[in-house]
Amino acid sequence: MKIGCVKEIKNNEFRVGITPDNVKSYTNAGHVVYIEKGAGEGSCFTDEEYKEAGAVLIDTAKEVWDTCEMMIKVKEPLEEEYKYFHKDLILYTYLHLAADRPLTDAMLKAGVKGVAYETLIERNRSIPLLAPMSQIAGRLSVQEGAKYLEKPFGGKGMLLSGVPGTPKAKVVILGAGNVGTNACKIAVGMGADVTIFDISLERLAYLDDIFGARIQTMYSTDAAIEKAVKDADLVIGCVLIPGKAAPKVMKKAYLKEMQPGSVIVDVAVDQGGCCETTKVTYHDNPTFVVDGVVHYCVGNMPGAVPRTSTIALTNATLKYGLQIAGKGLEQACKENDVIYSGINTYDGKLTCKNVADSFNVEH
Ligand code: NAD
Repeated sequence: MKIGCVKEIKNNEFRVGITPDNVKSYTNAGHVVYIEKGAGEGSCFTDEEYKEAGAVLIDTAKEVWDTCEMMIKVKEPLEEEYKYFHKDLILYTYLHLAADRPLTDAMLKAGVKGVAYETLIERNRSIPLLAPMSQIAGRLSVQEGAKYLEKPFGGKGMLLSGVPGTPKAKVVILGAGNVGTNACKIAVGMGADVTIFDISLERLAYLDDIFGARIQTMYSTDAAIEKAVKDADLVIGCVLIPGKAAPKVMKKAYLKEMQPGSVIVDVAVDQGGCCETTKVTYHDNPTFVVDGVVHYCVGNMPGAVPRTSTIALTNATLKYGLQIAGKGLEQACKENDVIYSGINTYDGKLTCKNVADSFNVEH
């Protein structure tokens, strides 16, 4: 199959859909990979590396779109890319169609076969192409929290691990899912005093098994959270109720009880945030202060580490990409219902129930 990859044009998006290592995997399987020149620059992959791996380098995005049968991207196409859509093009990328009616209509009109990373669901209900971004956001949340606890960054001036004879920083993690577990791992590794909350006792039991006496697990109630965050130096918010706005487990009233210069990293900001005082921030101005507490609420945390994010994402996308390219989309779906679950548009029809429901149309 002819596979294409273009430079992402969304503002501040530095990831790329295919790495040079991926190119080798696709070409070894007999496919041809067309890469727009400069596509990998934001993730520190040079054109030479792509060439050495066997890719065909192309001057313009238009030529790549026109040539390929499957386009592998990171973000949803923007309006200026709709003109490149052609019938039966397989578009394998994050699509988030429920939030983008114009893109959905453009894909349906052109007859694009859209396979959305975010709706590919494994039999155990995990979402393999979202998981790596949660892992990164979880690990980064502690790194960012540690930075903003430093005095020059507006924090109270506290080292996460302390040193012999001084207290360790108290880190409170709200939500023990994918993000929370990764935050926990790094906070423990950096020597902090860690307490983690969840409403799932099964999840807490799992963490208790993994980390033993190095962490405190707590069942999530308003009273228990209020008590814990009063003394917290760093609070990490990562609760999620799938498909719903994040519950506001961190109340504004609690901030007054915290020490000035304490830090909240609200990773759940992309679902509205789990802190009543959260508002979305961006990498160029990531923090603001309420009642003396520093808030970091960046909605696209993995964007800060595009090289790691690109490698982590493509590690997860490659397996399904190879199946689609090798067997064709239809046969790959017949043999693997995980790929089938990713199809959002096919032959001019909307095929994803959640997207159709959000537009109130049939699927
Ligand atoms: P997850 O489903 O793996 O974990 C969420 C956890 O929250 C679950 O264990 C659930 O039991 C728990 N929970 C639900 N209600 C709770 C409550 N009241 N108190 C305590 N725990 C509660 O989800 P995840 O992958 O860890 O993602 C967490 C959030 O982070 C999501 O909103 C996700 O979109 C977001 N996220 C943001 C970024 C970013 O860049 N800002 C990146 C990745 C993920």
